[in-house]
Amino acid sequence: MVAFVTGLPTLSENEFLSASESCPELARLCSQIGQGWPKTGRELDPVLVPFFRIRDELCVDGALVMRGEHRAIVPSALRSQLVSLAHETHQGIVQTKQRLRDLFWWPQMDAHVQSAVSSCLTCQMNDKSAKTAPAPLQPVSLPSDPWQKLGIDIVGPFENGPSAYHFAISLVDYHSKWPEVAFAPNVTTEVVTSFLQSVFSREGNPQCVVTDNGPQFLFSMFANFLEERGISHICSSVYYPQGNAAVERWNRVLKECILSAEQMGKPWKHAVTEFLQNYRATPHSTTGVSPSELLHHRKMRTKLNVFPVGPKSEKCTQVKDTVCNKQLKSKSYTDKRRGAKSHTFKPGDQVRVKKPGHVKKGSSKFSSPLKIEQQIGKNTLC
Ligand SMILES: [Zn+2]
Repeated sequence: MVAFVTGLPTLSENEFLSASESCPELARLCSQIGQGWPKTGRELDPVLVPFFRIRDELCVDGALVMRGEHRAIVPSALRSQLVSLAHETHQGIVQTKQRLRDLFWWPQMDAHVQSAVSSCLTCQMNDKSAKTAPAPLQPVSLPSDPWQKLGIDIVGPFENGPSAYHFAISLVDYHSKWPEVAFAPNVTTEVVTSFLQSVFSREGNPQCVVTDNGPQFLFSMFANFLEERGISHICSSVYYPQGNAAVERWNRVLKECILSAEQMGKPWKHAVTEFLQNYRATPHSTTGVSPSELLHHRKMRTKLNVFPVGPKSEKCTQVKDTVCNKQLKSKSYTDKRRGAKSHTFKPGDQVRVKKPGHVKKGSSKFSSPLKIEQQIGKNTLC
């Protein structure tokens, strides 16, 4: 049996236009734009005061008022509906704001989102605010192009789900942050390679994949699959699991999405698939651009796109600088706070290695002295 789940209805261009025509706030705004703005906001009708500081960006286009080229001012009757649509798959406050900011504006839009999401029951049950990732000390450099380097991981087992959804195979492109997910009853090497084959048939082969030391990634069948396609394999060390941070981070988002689906009684696959569309269309907090724009060089059309989708943003070309600046800022802040010193090691040096995970009380957190045999990787910033 296929479960059919209905989501929120989308908003048509005509509905938006007629709500704009009958909105008293927009009518006052249009006439103010027509007659020109006063020197100060003091004598303005209070309802127009929030528009004063952005007055130079506003223009009237038929029944619409636009802020800049791409953002429509939303008539008051539709604001709550748009917030609900932007938050339909329960992305966090920041992501919900970002999705709206790309296309719309109205006074107090951020506060509106803030209050709607903080009072959302499903999000409260998930306690999303409790799970924040520590800042990375060794930022992983951003590959210069999409689909060069992918992180792959297994999530689960999910004990509460149907057996077909016992595990999820998750994949993230390091550059664009584009995620892929497949549910499976078990996660043998065969299941994983067949998932990858299907993804690679659409997007092409990457240059390398990063995994942990899960058994499915260690069999020769996995090595052969990659070798046949000229893909190299990096195993992130158990001593340094943050090595696959991009996928770890996506996994947390995925788990929250599954938890929300469970609480709302929605079938998981449906919920995750809907969520994937929104995630791929939302500007990512690290790059500032949506995964779709970075991977496919186009904006995705979603329920929020009342108007035809615009061309690709120029932001794509600035991504590497944005990420680099963010990483440098975060690194210098964290290092300063922790009093970190940088170390250089060379083959032959004696070192003690911090043991991963929980260490029994009374035993040392570090291994006995070991000798470095060779350097196999490089940690560089950007
Ligand atoms: Zn929510």
